[in-house]
Amino acid sequence: MGQIKAVRGTRDLLPPETELWNHIEATARRVFARYAFGEIRTPIFEDTQLFARGVGEETDIVSKEMYTWEDRARAQSEKAQMLTLRPENTAGVVRAYIEHKLGDAGLLQKLYYIGPQFRRERPQKGRYRQFYQIGAEVIGPPSAGSESPLRDAEILEMLATLLEALSITGWTLELNSVGSATDRPRYIQALREALVDLAPTLCVDCQRRAVTNPLRVLDCKVPEDQAKIDELPKIADFLDEDSRAHFAQVCAALDACGVAYTVSPRLVRGLDYYTRTTFEFTHGGLGAQNALLGGGRYDGLSEAIGGPKAPGIGFAMGTDRLVLTLQAQQVALGESSAALLADAYIAPLGEAQQAESLVLARELRRAGLRVELGDGTFRLKKSFEMGNKLARRIVLFGEQEAVSGMVTVKDFQTGEQTKVPRGELAKMLGAQ
Ligand code: ATP
Ligand code: MG
Repeated sequence: MGQIKAVRGTRDLLPPETELWNHIEATARRVFARYAFGEIRTPIFEDTQLFARGVGEETDIVSKEMYTWEDRARAQSEKAQMLTLRPENTAGVVRAYIEHKLGDAGLLQKLYYIGPQFRRERPQKGRYRQFYQIGAEVIGPPSAGSESPLRDAEILEMLATLLEALSITGWTLELNSVGSATDRPRYIQALREALVDLAPTLCVDCQRRAVTNPLRVLDCKVPEDQAKIDELPKIADFLDEDSRAHFAQVCAALDACGVAYTVSPRLVRGLDYYTRTTFEFTHGGLGAQNALLGGGRYDGLSEAIGGPKAPGIGFAMGTDRLVLTLQAQQVALGESSAALLADAYIAPLGEAQQAESLVLARELRRAGLRVELGDGTFRLKKSFEMGNKLARRIVLFGEQEAVSGMVTVKDFQTGEQTKVPRGELAKMLGAQ
């Protein structure tokens, strides 16, 4: 029998890398709390229709990347249901907003999520079939101010703060407005007209997009096409007075708090439901998959999936890509893995000391220390070898120590060996 491996595009996250994942997620939770966001956890799978309607049939996600299956009907009377592993989380959050009537209190809902998403894409560095996102949404009835440009600016400022808290430097915020539900059709019409002559000179994907979804042509990454695409009509020239003023206010608020951005006229994003503000944070260190996060405003999404009018704005950041960025930065800084070593390795010197050495480990751990516990059957030499790999210091705990109440501590870095009363051990090892 062949060896069973993790499915292509999925992977195991192992220590010590998971420390970094936890650090990123904990930092995000801390920052989101300061902006008064609460956590939402939606199901991993949903009715396929949610994504078909909420993300859009014409998007890459829905047309070719979803994991969809037919759930067997349990009874004859029951109809089989099409289900899909969530490829993104905004549609699920908005479904929950509608289902639980979260807008009825007349307040904004500020929700964040952390979890896996699934897309059948070609796996490569920074692109997986099970990947992870940290995202947030601000959604509510218009009377709660959900359309305000201040909400857009606040989210972008929060993201800049989060990246700073994570010590991620060197990012770029690309910002654009794709206009309202009435601006967009006029722009798409102009694009279609311009593409009649241009499309045949572009890549095959663009030739298809020119017909199915002309906005997607602006996403093209083929180098030879770039100059030609830059000549196409720009969305900025099709914005009505309201959209223009909205975007100007987002920019002014960002300027006021010193968040740098560049306006990218071609940034239209992959999801059909975006209106007005769209944005992406990119990072040069990521290579081809350079988007750290993306987001935008989705004023019509709730209505598109059968809910009340509930404008909103949100983002999703790729945790996998944050990890890659931080790993690259740490390598550049030459940071060692010493931080992951335990504070102490307790070596029981003989089986008779095992039970009491667990008590000692318990004392130290309760004092907040990171402790590795050895084994009483190990010879002294083996305990030292193991301890040296796992911890900064070794604590010898033999019969003599048990009787005298003094333990022997050796620091692997300095080579220094000392005897300390058991009661003072935690403090000596650095407990607060
Ligand atoms: P990309 O242009 O990289 O395909 P996208 O526009 O499809 O990104 P979104 O749907 O906006 O991405 O998702 C937000 C973020 O989630 C992206 O900026 C990226 O960091 C991350 N992401 C998206 N797809 C993947 C994937 N397959 N593997 C890892 N991260 C991903
Ligand atoms: Mg994509």
